Amino acid sequence: MRKIKIFDTTLRDGEQSPGFTMTLDEKIKFGMQLEKLNVDVIEAGFAASNEKDLKAIQEISKNVTSPIITSLARCVKDDIDKAYESLKYAKKKRIHVFIATSDIHMKDKLHMSKEEVLVRVRKMVSYAKSLCDDIEFSLEDATRTNIDFMVKVISVAIESGASTINIPDTVGYITPDEYKNIIRCIKSNVKNIDKVTLSTHCHNDLGLATSNTLSAIEEGVNQVECTVNGIGERAGNAALEEIVMALKVRNDYYNADTNINIKEIINSSKMLVDITKSPVQNNKPVVGSNAFIQSSGIHVDGILKNPKTYSIFDTKQLGIETDGIVIGVHSGKHTIKYKLDSLNIDYDINKLDKYVLEIKNYLSTNKTITDEKLIEIVNTINKIKKLQIKL
Ligand SMILES: [Zn+2]
Repeated sequence: MRKIKIFDTTLRDGEQSPGFTMTLDEKIKFGMQLEKLNVDVIEAGFAASNEKDLKAIQEISKNVTSPIITSLARCVKDDIDKAYESLKYAKKKRIHVFIATSDIHMKDKLHMSKEEVLVRVRKMVSYAKSLCDDIEFSLEDATRTNIDFMVKVISVAIESGASTINIPDTVGYITPDEYKNIIRCIKSNVKNIDKVTLSTHCHNDLGLATSNTLSAIEEGVNQVECTVNGIGERAGNAALEEIVMALKVRNDYYNADTNINIKEIINSSKMLVDITKSPVQNNKPVVGSNAFIQSSGIHVDGILKNPKTYSIFDTKQLGIETDGIVIGVHSGKHTIKYKLDSLNIDYDINKLDKYVLEIKNYLSTNKTITDEKLIEIVNTINKIKKLQIKL
């Protein structure tokens, strides 16, 4: 069974996107939660981008001991120095150096030629290596980079000391098969590629971040960069919870697993929502409030006979104790009876049709119904019955 390393960038790529900014204390708190979640690498920030990030990386390094802590750095000396300084308290440290390699980024953003980029990579990766043994190198916009040039850049980065090579889909452009082809090409053309860890970093602009990441895993990539709840620039990054659970549930297919403590996935998601005040959509895989809920009559009937009829998850693994059955406007008599039984309340089986009618009336103008409201409806109908008998 292959082990896939989880590189969490919630505190860097996630935190830098609008609406997800955190205070220093919040970053430390979430960093400690990431340790409980048992991620392999925490990208704690981009030290050169601002003093707050540098300080946050230092404080996280003091409070988190098990995962590798990394700081992002452009391919320039000052960034690398700041990254190294930010990591001075880290027990396990990594400097993450990046430079753009696509034609559009080199020409219009960096104003550098291919040759200049190659020289810079050799110089700066070597410099980073002189400070820190664990160096990750990323080719920004790799998926829009000329493949021959990509092979050259990666070769130089490895010769200069990089031990992890990251192939980011920075703009969320690639498709799963194309991504597989890129990885395959790198593996067959770069010398000593088997001596380093290959990594993904996928964005979700076309909703393909998880699929692309999983495709790369199939091609032998052993590290994936992702964020809790999939937060990140624009449409976000590949969601940690989706990748981890895809590998867990479809272990038969991927034959790969992670070190993630999956009982902490929901807690991590909730903590992030609590900190950022940005809720996840109800139907978000794994962490959305509807992710394990069934309400239609046919589904509930199946679930009650065997939960596997309509659910691919063992929810207990995720620490979820609920049966997941919720009354909705399409719930039938069996579902409502099951719910009344599970609430352990006093109801009259002969009045089940009346309860169903009243509950559906309520749901025609309300999106959901709470247990308290269900109990209130049952009690009201019961009282009417008792009053009629008295009269
Ligand atoms: Zn990114």
